[in-house]
Amino acid sequence: MSEPHGPDPVDLVDPFGRTVRDLRISVTDRCNFRCTYCMPAEGMTWMPREELLTFEEIQRVVRVFVERFGVDGIRLTGGEPTVRAHLPVLVGKLATLRLPGGGRPDLALTTNGATFRLLAHELRAAGLDRVNISIDSLQRDRFALMTRRDELPRVLDGIEAAQEAGFDPVKVNVVLERGVNDDEVVDFARWGRERGVEVRFIEFMPLDATGDWRVAKVVGQDEIVAAIDAVFPLEPVPARGAAPADRWRYRDGRGTVGVIPSVTKPFCGDCDRVRLTADGQLRTCLFETREFDLRAVVRSGGTDDDLAAEITRAVGTKWAGHSIGQVHFLRPNRSMSQIGG
Ligand code: SAM
Repeated sequence: MSEPHGPDPVDLVDPFGRTVRDLRISVTDRCNFRCTYCMPAEGMTWMPREELLTFEEIQRVVRVFVERFGVDGIRLTGGEPTVRAHLPVLVGKLATLRLPGGGRPDLALTTNGATFRLLAHELRAAGLDRVNISIDSLQRDRFALMTRRDELPRVLDGIEAAQEAGFDPVKVNVVLERGVNDDEVVDFARWGRERGVEVRFIEFMPLDATGDWRVAKVVGQDEIVAAIDAVFPLEPVPARGAAPADRWRYRDGRGTVGVIPSVTKPFCGDCDRVRLTADGQLRTCLFETREFDLRAVVRSGGTDDDLAAEITRAVGTKWAGHSIGQVHFLRPNRSMSQIGG
């Protein structure tokens, strides 16, 4: 007798022929940092607790993405995902999901690392595969100014804890802002080579809560790569595929470095991502203003078919690309911390 099984999996293809493979889930809009390029110092209004998807609801939605649509990359983010209580329990639930072929989707986390020492082993044991840790300055005073928290030592310790727990590679995200930390490009490259972590510079995007973004504050990919190459010669790593970072390897074999050039060289043509906000709204782009309410489907007793239909409807509206820098560009109504970076 054969096992009962659900509908055959289908690819989730948008109108421009891109297949969705990657789901980024914000598990909370709260954060223990107040990075200047992301949040105001105070005055954020948090989502009421009852509006957040529960772990069971998140698992249900993700199960539909994984089983029905073969989505094989899951990344937890926020806000700061580690401030959501019992995060390893959620990771454990997601680690039970299986792709149509029987494989496990890749489970990743983006965190500011401040409490990662406390969680690293538990998250690893629960099934987390990969971690990216954000750090914007290697200078303690500047770090405190940029994040409004004097936490550089704990973040550095969190990075070490990630390596000790067996995460490999540990990737480190650096948002560069002109006149703020752009003089640290080479310092970060040197540090990444010494520590055995892959540093990835992110171009500053117009997703700050305060609306202070200006194109003049963006440090572009070409400038970043030229600065590093002058000190530590680089060669490109071919074929990025759908990954957002362009990568280079050091010619002396001491690792790799990446740049996420969202502003100067948008990679929308290869984008395979969709995003689920902490309150259960599906977005097909960071810069999208339309949302599709998966929480309403779940909480009104919708079936997996209903969820799959709403997901398909959302992906059917995915646009060709964002238009930062063009006259018709509209900032999204939520900031990065509210969408999930
Ligand atoms: N709190 C976690 C962290 O710090 O990694 C996860 C959420 S955070 C919103 C995800 C990433 O988005 C971080 O690397 C952060 O630096 C980046 N980010 C936030 N605002 C940004 C902006 N306006 N432009 C570019 N990157 C931004």
